[in-house]
Formats: sequence, C-alpha cells, structure tokens
Amino acid sequence: MKLTVKEIATVFDQAGDFPDSTLHQVEFDSRKITAGDLFVPLAGVRDGHEFVQAAIDNGAVATFWSRPLSEAPAGISVICVPDALKALQKLAVYYKEKLQPKIVAITGSNGKTTTKDLTAAVLSQRFVTYKTQGNYNNDIGMPYTILHMPEDCEMLVLEMGMDHAGELQVLSELAQPDAAAITIVGEAHIENLGSREGIAKAKMEIISGEKADGVLFVPEDEPLLRPLTANLTQDVRTFGLDAGDIRGTVLAEHREKTVFAVAGETFEIPVIGAYNVKNALIAYGFGQYFGLTTTEIRQGLATVSLTKNRTQWLEAPNQVRILSDVYNANPTAMGLVLDTFGKLPTSGRKLAVLGDMLELGPDSKAMHRSMADHITADYDVIFLYGSEMTALFHALTEKDADLTVYHFDKENKAALIQMIKGELRPEDSILLKGSNGMGLAEVVAALQEVS
Ligand code: ATP
Ligand code: MG
Repeated sequence: MKLTVKEIATVFDQAGDFPDSTLHQVEFDSRKITAGDLFVPLAGVRDGHEFVQAAIDNGAVATFWSRPLSEAPAGISVICVPDALKALQKLAVYYKEKLQPKIVAITGSNGKTTTKDLTAAVLSQRFVTYKTQGNYNNDIGMPYTILHMPEDCEMLVLEMGMDHAGELQVLSELAQPDAAAITIVGEAHIENLGSREGIAKAKMEIISGEKADGVLFVPEDEPLLRPLTANLTQDVRTFGLDAGDIRGTVLAEHREKTVFAVAGETFEIPVIGAYNVKNALIAYGFGQYFGLTTTEIRQGLATVSLTKNRTQWLEAPNQVRILSDVYNANPTAMGLVLDTFGKLPTSGRKLAVLGDMLELGPDSKAMHRSMADHITADYDVIFLYGSEMTALFHALTEKDADLTVYHFDKENKAALIQMIKGELRPEDSILLKGSNGMGLAEVVAALQEVS
C-alpha cells in the first residue's frame, strides 16, 4: 500500500508523532491481520475493539479507536475516530483520490458479480485492473476493495449491492464512478422497496455520485428505467438481445459456452445462458467506452474467470452432470436458468432440484407458482424443496400428469438426497437452484459422493 501511518494520522487530523512507515494492508478481521497492517474495529455481533489485542498479536502497527484514548492499548499507533466504519470509508476515498484509477460501478438485481468479472476481464487486456473480490459489495466491502487495489491500478471495477433505498447513493457518492451500469431491474428485496418502480428508482442511485460526463449502461427491455434516464447529463446507452444501442444476437448455446455477435463481430463467453450475453454486452460497452479494440474485448470475454458457484458444471458418479446454481435465487434468475438448462444439448434426461426462494414478501407463493411456465417437456423429474415450493408443486401436478414431481419439507433434506440418488440414471443432467439459506450446496456435495 502506498500509505504511511503518519499520512493516515493526517487524514484524521491527529496530533502527535506517528511513524513514517508504510502500511502493509487494511483489515477489519483480526484473524486476517499480518505484519504492518492497520486494524479497523468495526461494530458487529461483538465490538471490534475487543479484538484490537488479537490484531496487535498478529502484527498490526496501527488501529482506529473510538473509545476513550485512556483505554487505548500500548504498542500500536492509535488513530482516534468517532466511527470506525465511517473512517474506513473516508480512508478509502482518500486512497482512491491519491491513486486516481478510473472507477466502474456495477449494480442490478442479478448478474452484478458476473458482469463485474466479465468487465474486469475485458479491461485487464489493456489496463492494470482490480475488481471487487468475491461479493464484497456493501458499505464495508466496497471501501475494503478500494483499499486493496494495487498501487499501479488504472481501472477499479466495483460491484455495488443494496437491499434498501439509500444504500447505493452512499456507495456511489464514496466511489464517484466514471462509468456505471444497471444489469437488470428484478424483484430481489421487493419486501424492502415496495414495488418494481421502487427497485428501479433505487438502482438509479448508482449515478448519484457519478461524474457528470460519465456513461450509464441500462437494459433496453426495462421501460421503468426510461423516464428515470431521460434527462441525465451522463451518456445513457442501452444494451439488449437484438435491441438497443449495444445489440447482441445469440448465435449458439453450447453446454459450456455461449456464442454471440455484436456489430458484425463474433464473441464467446465460457458460461451458459442468454442472460449472460446481456452481462457480456455491458462488459463490451465498458471496453468500447475506454477505447479497447474488438480483439481485446473478444480475448477478455473468452478468458474470463468467474467467481465460483454460479451455474457451475460438476461431475458426479455414473457420468451424471450437475449444474450447480445454489448460491442465490429469485424468480427472474430461476426462470432464466430453467429456460437455459431446458434448451441445452445433453445426452441423458433432465432433472431439477428447486429450493425455496427466500424473502419474496406477500407475493412469494404466486412467484413460486409462476416457475411452472419455465418447466417444459424438456424436464423429466422435478424435486421441490421447502414450504414455499408447495405452490409450485400444486401448479405442476395440475399442469402435467407425465412429469414426475416430488416435494420435500426443509427438515427432510436426507430424504430428498436419497430420493434424488434413487431417481438418477447414468448420463442424466441435474440442475440445482435455490436460495443460499436452503443449503442446497450440501445436496450437491452428497450427489458428488461415490457411494
Ligand atoms: P448477489 O446479489 O448475490 O451479489 P449478483 O447480482 O452478483 O448476486 P451473480 O452472482 O452474477 O449476481 O449471478 C447470480 C445469478 O443471477 C446467476 O446464477 C443467474 O442465475 C442470475 N443472473 C445472472 N445474470 C443475470 C441477468 N443479466 N439477468 C437475470 N438473471 C441473471
Ligand atoms: Mg454478487
């Protein structure tokens, strides 16, 4: 890191003598502290101040401190701040202004992490690029990401998430993006935001801190965003499948990759689903905006390494192939994955295990039921898991007498696993999707075991 303890003390107006030594890293988890780090005692289940000693033991040279100075430990530079989280954010802003990378901000109900990975893969063909690690997309994770960018960083690609109105505004004002994108306006967190209109409005907070001459990429097929983007100073560019300013056409959907065309050029991404082509169109847009060539964009998209556990193909005994997408679920995403998986060329039968989509509010049952439209004749056996899925169970049994459908309550996971194992035949393909809280990762692991 290009920061000294003395410099940080100055940022927080501290009097006194602070060492001129360069800081190694900033951490808020005392277990991650190594020699030369600054510790940030955040308030969590337990007050971070309780872990300052552990941080010192692990080699921390400085700590933020929001308690009386008289209680501060010895053997470490103490930087007094009223609030450790605000201090983390303030330091991130200082660091960003010092290093001056271009800032790319990505939000949306689904596809943020994927789009972030695709965008960073593209931009890194030309620029020193750093991106949000994993899913660190909130008011702690984003400043943490900023503070972890390398000293020579030219492009910083930030994922910005939210569950409530006002959160993105905070993130955008801290980051002050040069370029931004909204992947999709879905239904995630509709409980907190009231309606899809409320969600669309909240997503638009992504530009509240954006440079006036920046660019904003928005989905062409979202009418709710049109009035909200009509009078912006930023350049608004739409993307879509066979529509919009950045127009992608899907050419072929293979089991491991998807091929598409934009403006007469062909591209591919090593991931399934036409929805991921939309994510790739955003990455293409950012690439073009920052002056990359078609060849660079093509190379970046084709070689992206995606964050784990989203539509991942896994092997299981007897040539069974598992498509695991167990990290999160909402109706938009589940519908898309069901459509995509149903169409894929595979040799055996198609089975799906669908777990409850959590936090959907009063319309939850109806949203679960609506998944019936995505379960076509391509499917042979469906396993439903969780109380919300009873609605889909009834819809499916009414709709199609030929389809085999099972339902299991949440506490019957062992029975679910046993039933799936009993149903699986060699060369079958099986999709698993549900909210993380349903614990389908355990089912995936059980299916991979050789029994
Ligand atoms: P989180 O809110 O958990 O951070 P995210 O927005 O980062 O999620 P990803 O992790 O990229 O989203 O993708 C999660 C799932 O959303 C994917 O596995 C897929 O099912 C679905 N998805 C991805 N991209 C899109 C898209 N453009 N439109 C709709 N659904 C999508
Ligand atoms: Mg994410």
